[in-house]
Amino acid sequence: MFSTKTIEMKSATELAVMRRAGAILAEALEAVVRAVKPGMATVGLDRVVVSELSRLGAKPAFLGYRGFPASLCVSVNDAIIHGIPSSAVLRDGDLVSLDLGCLYEGFYADMAATVGVGRLTPEAERLARTAREALDIGIAAARPGARLGDVSAAIQAHVEGAGFSVVRDFVGHGIGRALHEEPPVPNYGKAGTGPRLAPGMVLAIEPMINAGSFEARTLQDGWTAVTKDGSLSAHWEHTVAVTAQGPEILTARQGRTATW
Ligand code: MG
Repeated sequence: MFSTKTIEMKSATELAVMRRAGAILAEALEAVVRAVKPGMATVGLDRVVVSELSRLGAKPAFLGYRGFPASLCVSVNDAIIHGIPSSAVLRDGDLVSLDLGCLYEGFYADMAATVGVGRLTPEAERLARTAREALDIGIAAARPGARLGDVSAAIQAHVEGAGFSVVRDFVGHGIGRALHEEPPVPNYGKAGTGPRLAPGMVLAIEPMINAGSFEARTLQDGWTAVTKDGSLSAHWEHTVAVTAQGPEILTARQGRTATW
């Protein structure tokens, strides 16, 4: 999964390109979120990604990646990640994780958000909010001089403190000229361990959390990962640069105060 054991450090020039890639991706995700409504087929959301990225001058990163058949992963309710867009229609109360990536001028950006269709149950709402908070907390821990395990441990503590579990089978990753680079970024681990973070590292931090057990299984389509116990799952992700000034969210929408 990871191209090299070396963490690729990005120059200021490369970061500027990645910042643009991230802003494009954030804009595409915003269009997808606007399209989420009862009666929408998940393949319709994929079409939004294709047209938005094309309009913005970027290529979908997931289409054809290791054979993935679409540009967007749509993971509904008990699906954790890698859901394949289909004719299946969204219904009121569904919890929908949207994960997308793009390639722009040789660099990748990767992000995910979990949103509700119509009205969510309080439990689903709390799960999605906790995943989002865990992402924010993980990002805040990605300071130069900190250890990667500080990020992992902060995410795990927040999620488990809320009574939810952290998925073990899938993790975040470095990102740059490859979609998946070193190092793996688990959402569980020990503070004070792992590589020391330094300016120029870019990490895709992506907590995947379940309402029940952390165990996952893959559906017969070969892609969709679901919770083994059928409980709900949520996923948030940002592409984050470690800078001398602290963590910078590259997938933030430009000109907005919200983080996507
Ligand atoms: Mg990712």
